Parts: sequence; C-alpha cells; structure tokens
Amino acid sequence: MKNYRQFCEEHNLNPVCSSGVGPGWIPLLENLVVDLKQLGWDGDIQQIKEKFAQLRFYIGKGTDAIHNRIDLAEKESLTVCEECGDPGSLHTLCGRLLKTLCEPCKVVKTNKMNQR
Ligand SMILES: [Zn+2]
Repeated sequence: MKNYRQFCEEHNLNPVCSSGVGPGWIPLLENLVVDLKQLGWDGDIQQIKEKFAQLRFYIGKGTDAIHNRIDLAEKESLTVCEECGDPGSLHTLCGRLLKTLCEPCKVVKTNKMNQR
C-alpha cells in the first residue's frame, strides 16, 4: 500500500503536509486530487491531516465546486478505515482517542495502546 509521502511526491504536492494521514485514506486522497485538478485547482495545499477521526484537507483558494468536492471526501473518510482502507466506522480507543477504523485494525490499535 502506498504511504503518504509517496502520494505527495507522485502528485507534486508540497510535503509541508508531512504529518499526513494513514495509508487507508490514500486512495481517497488520490481520487480527490485528480477531481480537484479537473475542477481547476492550482495544487496549493495548506495542510492534510486527521482531526476527530476525519480527514481534513485545507487548500489555498478554490471555487465552490472545489470546496464541495473536498467536503465530500472529508465525509467519505468517516466510512473508510484509516489504516487499511476497508469499510470502517468511528471508534473510541482506550476511552480517549477517536479514530475511523475497521474491526481488525481497531483490535490491533487497541492492543498496541495497551502495551504502552
Ligand atoms: Zn482496517
């Protein structure tokens, strides 16, 4: 699976967005970037990150159509596991961390957190 850095390089996106998101969301981001470029987006990214278990995609300037397409991807991210790309849903890990994950990835993450 492609990671976030490879995604940035492939699409000539400024790696200022280096914190990034999990590999499960990369296909979602790729669809988004392709669509945005078709809508006339100039490729100016401010930040891509995960916030409250949802994708956040911040750009410079854009038309309403561009912002609507971004809204769609951000909503879509709430149904896709951030780790593996399978269908996912919102989970609270160890009673504090909110993440969009599938069941198997939730178990892996929870076990990792419990080991700390
Ligand atoms: Zn998963």
